[in-house]
Amino acid sequence: MVSKVAVVTGSNKGIGFAIVRGLCKRYDGIVYLTSRDVERGKKAVADLEKEGLNPKYHQLDITNKQSLEVFRDYIKNTYGGIDILVNNAAIAFKHDATEPASVQAKETLFVNYFSLVSTCETLFPVLNNGARVINLSSSCGQLGLIPSQSLRDQLKDEKLTVPELSKLMQQYVEAAKQGTHEPEWGNSSYVVSKVAVSALSVIQQRELNDRDIKVNAVHPGYVDTDMTSHKGPLTIDQGASAPLYLALDAPDTIKGKFVWHNSKLVDWD
Ligand code: NDP
Repeated sequence: MVSKVAVVTGSNKGIGFAIVRGLCKRYDGIVYLTSRDVERGKKAVADLEKEGLNPKYHQLDITNKQSLEVFRDYIKNTYGGIDILVNNAAIAFKHDATEPASVQAKETLFVNYFSLVSTCETLFPVLNNGARVINLSSSCGQLGLIPSQSLRDQLKDEKLTVPELSKLMQQYVEAAKQGTHEPEWGNSSYVVSKVAVSALSVIQQRELNDRDIKVNAVHPGYVDTDMTSHKGPLTIDQGASAPLYLALDAPDTIKGKFVWHNSKLVDWD
């Protein structure tokens, strides 16, 4: 019998780690913990094994095309495809980071948006029909946080394509380089990156409808992780709850949506 396969990016720690834990407990299939750093990933697998769980491991750096392709080929040759893909890996500069806005914009968009796009371009061809894709957005991924009405209109345009969205994100990175970004885009590159994740999820759903694939974006809540400097009140398992709901429990009618950490649907735009 062919095994079903679930994959979580950036799952050596934080919410991704807890998503793997939850999948290992409940998913009737093989669960892949992946990480950019092999040592950190293997340590995370060993921690879950101590809990009696059995995730599999593969290296996966979402910013590295070769790493993505090696992983895709391995999955394709070993199992045929992927049934659950949780796009969790991301970065965030701290509020007191000293890097200039131009650097924060370029690096944040590179990992959180452009590398998510290349991850999906590489892995979507091996998604099995009926697969579920969960993109980790954020409460920061709500359209209302972008000051410019014109940009908001473009980002929620029902005909927006991925290349057009990528062009808008390149314009943002360029504006940040020139120091002219704030009036239109606001002052947080993380917000811009997560708004892009929300917009991307809507486009992806539209494009994957004919393959019966469900794509949703999720805000996991404010969670106690390294990213939040452990200020979030939710545990990582609580943060994993809404992503796990979308992966395992949500009805098939929930697609192209934005889901809050209490698993309720909200409008991202
Ligand atoms: P953490 O910083 O704790 O973990 C992020 C994970 O992503 C780490 O495993 C990290 O690996 C990995 N990662 C970073 N870059 C790459 C890369 N290039 N390739 C592969 N993996 C990478 O973050 P959280 O667990 O808090 O966040 C998980 C997701 O949830 C993110 O998308 C975040 O934006 C989102 N989110 C989090 C919230 C929160 O309150 N924590 C709130 C809203 C959204 P490494 O250890 O190597 O750095």
